[in-house]
Amino acid sequence: MKSGTMAPKLAIAQALAKGSCPVCSVLKQFVEDLVENFRPDQATSTCKTHTWALAKTAPAEAVVNSFLKTIGARVSGEPCACGICLLKEQEESERLDELAAEMKHRRMIEWFERHGSLCLEHAEKLREHLPEQLQPLVGGIVARNITELREELDSFRELRREGHREGWGLLGRAAEFLAGPRGL
Ligand SMILES: [Zn+2]
Ligand SMILES: [Zn+2]
Repeated sequence: MKSGTMAPKLAIAQALAKGSCPVCSVLKQFVEDLVENFRPDQATSTCKTHTWALAKTAPAEAVVNSFLKTIGARVSGEPCACGICLLKEQEESERLDELAAEMKHRRMIEWFERHGSLCLEHAEKLREHLPEQLQPLVGGIVARNITELREELDSFRELRREGHREGWGLLGRAAEFLAGPRGL
């Protein structure tokens, strides 16, 4: 089990890659680091997803403290607010602001128009962080992402019919586009 300090945060501009949502990438990294370095004094009740995330990779004392809190909340019938979801939502909002600020630069706009990807959820959320005149940009990016994904899924299906068995990575990318990253 890893312990110690959290890895330095990656700037969103460094997380840009063809075919994947940069907000998903930085958030995935954030939650993984948070859970792996979870401290006993950060103990919180947790949702289903993050109960399992803690059980798998957090330091034992932090897991025990958190599970006792979750049990306490369930027994007393309090609403079980997940502290990890809360931190994730704060981070998501800051990262959407960061991306929106980057999108004011001409070169970034051009890159995104040609190569950028956004999952459906973050495309929707990013709109709320952008000034009105930049909002149509998001629609254009998503429309291109959808066209490309349809073509790739069609040719994947063709290849399967012809007996090819490779290219499964596409399905993971498509799932991430539709539903965000797994386990977040
Ligand atoms: Zn995303
Ligand atoms: Zn949660």
